[in-house]
Amino acid sequence: MGFCPELGASATGALPTRRPTPACRAFLLLARGLAVDIPPPERVSLDVKMQRLNIEWADGHASVFPLDGLREACPCAECEGKKVERIPKPGVLHIFRQKNRWKNVRIEKAGSVGLRITWDDGHRGGIYRWDRLRELQPAE
Ligand SMILES: [Zn+2]
Repeated sequence: MGFCPELGASATGALPTRRPTPACRAFLLLARGLAVDIPPPERVSLDVKMQRLNIEWADGHASVFPLDGLREACPCAECEGKKVERIPKPGVLHIFRQKNRWKNVRIEKAGSVGLRITWDDGHRGGIYRWDRLRELQPAE
């Protein structure tokens, strides 16, 4: 019966009995895709009149997302939103310039992970994770 001192596992495949350290646990959380460094925002509000989604983050930072930009960055498998690096800042006239006029958008929290958005066409493909939204937010 072999025992590898480096891996701490026996040849039978039994796991080492050592408890994971906090750093190890944090790494495992990250590895599972659960971002631990972006806490849920303080406030999320939809402004259909202005065609914007406003997010007030726990650290006091505020982001304004134009709805068209958010739709283009849809995180589901069918849309190509993953290609979007950053949503452009909403200009003064973005309401008139954007392709769509969203009238019946609904938002709901997807647990503590992020936001689910249902669009006018009924599309609600994926979860906009807080860390992704932070990444996508328009530049100041
Ligand atoms: Zn989609």
